[in-house]
Amino acid sequence: MDLILTPDIYEPSMDDNGNIIDKIPSWSCLKGKGIMCACGSRKNKVYETSALFTTHIKSQTHKKWIMKLNADKVNYYMENNRMKQIIQELREILNRYETNIARINHQHTIELANKDQVIQSLTSLLSEMPGEKMETERQLDLMNV
Ligand SMILES: [Zn+2]
Repeated sequence: MDLILTPDIYEPSMDDNGNIIDKIPSWSCLKGKGIMCACGSRKNKVYETSALFTTHIKSQTHKKWIMKLNADKVNYYMENNRMKQIIQELREILNRYETNIARINHQHTIELANKDQVIQSLTSLLSEMPGEKMETERQLDLMNV
């Protein structure tokens, strides 16, 4: 049976100065899957060898894409920071919900324990009343307790 391998999507690298640059990925890490490029020069094209991909990244469309990524990187940086802030806010909201749910569960457990205690006390009181024992047992049967 042949395995259908999904090609990786190429991600350019960043140099020490924060510039987006091309860096040919290690072909052995791709494990025969090949690589696709998001630059848009050839849609759905899978580059199956390092040599083919090296030729591709020298194309004008690919070079323009890298230039555009560099031009937009300040926007990406700001967008990334905004996303990090949103994630942090969502984590805080989630934590608050989890804390509230734990508190409500704890409260319900206490309330149920208190109700059980009240029922036991009342049942005990009723059973001590003369002539009430039979009636109490009948009521408890009706309540399916
Ligand atoms: Zn490309």
